[in-house]
Amino acid sequence: PAMLGILGGGQLGRMFTIAARTLGYRVTVLDPDARAPAAAFADVHLCRAYDDRDALKTLADTCAAVTTEFENVNADSMRWLAQTIRVSPSADCVAIAQDRIAEKSWIRRAGLDTAPYLAIESVEELACDLSPWLPGILKTARLGYDGKGQVRVDTPEAARAAYANLGGQACVLEKRLPLQREISVIVTRVSDALVNSFPVSENEHVDGILELSIVPARIGDALAARAREMAIRLAHELDYVGVLAVEFFVLDDDSLVINEIAPRPHNSGHYTLDACNTDQFQQQVRALCGLAPGRADLLTPVVMANLLGDRWKADGSAPYWAVLMDTPNAKLHLYGKDTARKGRKMGHFTVVGSDVDNLIEQTRALQETL
Ligand code: ATP
Ligand code: MG
Ligand code: MG
Repeated sequence: PAMLGILGGGQLGRMFTIAARTLGYRVTVLDPDARAPAAAFADVHLCRAYDDRDALKTLADTCAAVTTEFENVNADSMRWLAQTIRVSPSADCVAIAQDRIAEKSWIRRAGLDTAPYLAIESVEELACDLSPWLPGILKTARLGYDGKGQVRVDTPEAARAAYANLGGQACVLEKRLPLQREISVIVTRVSDALVNSFPVSENEHVDGILELSIVPARIGDALAARAREMAIRLAHELDYVGVLAVEFFVLDDDSLVINEIAPRPHNSGHYTLDACNTDQFQQQVRALCGLAPGRADLLTPVVMANLLGDRWKADGSAPYWAVLMDTPNAKLHLYGKDTARKGRKMGHFTVVGSDVDNLIEQTRALQETL
């Protein structure tokens, strides 16, 4: 069977690896961490740096196709691999997603809205009147996730000080918008004709980290359809091949603003593992291999809750899972990480049922007892 490669062996790489093996492929994981979550499931674990020439050569020589689990991979490594083997998403798309300035200008190029923002590539850009973007959030252009590299700023002085504190690296100053709610859409695109999207997920964050995903989102059908169309339009504009996650803000008047994109399966799409015909990792495998996306229909309402390291005890021991095991409509997913840290994603669980309001209540009750 063909060998597929993935850059990164965290939980997303692990779930990709499991999906690929279920579909009959072999998998090589490149990750410098000997205990990477995906390593236990991989046929081959290349325990090397992401830009290690020998490791990349091994991927090029032994794999039919290579994908990535995270956007901060070296785009040049992907470009180099793409000279000999299929790489999806493309290095160009990954480069766009890893830079908030490029990302936002592509979103606008597709005719879609972002929050008002000022691109700051040097300190001179902060000399102007900043009031159009205040109160705002200063975000580093690169390498931020789970709200890291972001500072809320209310005044021009605070914005300038925060920029200096971040070491003068490229940033965006984004206006803070009043959010009715946050939603996301995951698109699978192979070509103009072979494209579909998963149902809209409604996402609740705590301290900048995803806490709950609720599907179907508690929004009207027209708004949901509009979000799915916008996500697909952006995938077409980027000529994107693979799984693309699009995060939206819903404003009070039901208008939609794109927050950011991720060139890969997304935490807010983990519900698809338990509630859809085809899950987002199977879609990643299919798109990587040039196969048509599978049906993305929702089979049941579902709520997904993240399990962060905060719930682990100080001695590193896990919460007592019996309550989840005693709940027939709950399903536990653990990522095999042996050290817990505050805010670290250790696993998640889903609950399925007929009514999302009941599921939200049930999820909160389960979170309390863990
Ligand atoms: P991740 O990649 O893990 O989703 P991130 O670090 O890239 O997170 P963002 O998605 O930019 O961060 O922001 C994190 C959260 O902060 C958002 O989901 C939203 O709740 C809030 N937020 C970000 N930008 C704005 C904004 N312009 N107005 C209001 N809230 C915002
Ligand atoms: Mg992000
Ligand atoms: Mg985000």
